[in-house]
Amino acid sequence: MRKAVFPGSFDPITLGHVDIIQRGLPLFDELVVAIGVNSAKKYHFSLEKRLEFIKSIFSSEAKLNVQTYEGLTVDYCRSIGADCILRGIRSAADFEFEKNIAQLNSKLNGGVESAFLISAPEYSHISSSIVREILKFGGDVSALVPEKVVQEL
Ligand code: ADP
Repeated sequence: MRKAVFPGSFDPITLGHVDIIQRGLPLFDELVVAIGVNSAKKYHFSLEKRLEFIKSIFSSEAKLNVQTYEGLTVDYCRSIGADCILRGIRSAADFEFEKNIAQLNSKLNGGVESAFLISAPEYSHISSSIVREILKFGGDVSALVPEKVVQEL
């Protein structure tokens, strides 16, 4: 059985994340969307809200699970029996960053493979940080995030 983890902050989940999840689902038997918790980091949306957004968007997806985790992603993967980390790539900068992390993860735990999906062109300009920046100034993010997030604003 192929079980993959899609880790991230999802602060908040965007249409880009949704696209990666939808395209990742047919590739695995189970996909765990895992919200990484870093107590030193300040988030815009509470952990409860971030969890609720993802759970409600994918409530009808039997192969999808939403969890939170602390610590190293590879340790988390091992603890739940996942053998793959799924990540999205939007740009050359993402590629360089992800390449380093994937190589480090492979050194930390060679049993966990990394897989990458290239962003769809219509979503490659979207990031959670851009969404947070627009929200800070009261702008409209309805073209960037799922309806569920818009309803909450
Ligand atoms: P992190 O803080 O770990 O980067 P994010 O929630 O920002 O967490 O992103 C999680 C994953 O989703 C990363 O692999 C990131 O590259 C990917 N991602 C984010 N936005 C997009 C997008 N618009 N299109 C495709 N992948 C994306």
